[in-house]
Amino acid sequence: MKKAIVVGCGSYIDSGYGCPGEWRCLKAAGEGDGKFEEPTHVVGFVKCECPGRATAPNVGMTIKLSEVKPDAIYLSSCMVGAKPGCPYSTPEEKAAFIQEKTGIPVILGTHEYK
Ligand code: SF4
Repeated sequence: MKKAIVVGCGSYIDSGYGCPGEWRCLKAAGEGDGKFEEPTHVVGFVKCECPGRATAPNVGMTIKLSEVKPDAIYLSSCMVGAKPGCPYSTPEEKAAFIQEKTGIPVILGTHEYK
């Protein structure tokens, strides 16, 4: 089974109902729905925190401490499609930075559930 880390927007997680960690990302991964091409084991869920500087290092620490190298890192749909958007960086910028730091492909979005 493929392995993944999901990164969610902490600003939304802290204030929104139905945060990225509630069920949507996890269901999509488990069922192979949305951006997951097949049922996928989520080995870590990393919370981004404003302004996002620690996010890539925190993903790296999750990989180190879990001793599991994921096949891909997913930026949650709530993070990628946020309106208003993140004031600090675009999803594409975040993805490029995390991918550069970890060497692991970063995928924009997780699910299409409402
Ligand atoms: S930096 Fe952006 S993506 Fe990260 S928690 Fe703050 S608003 Fe969300």
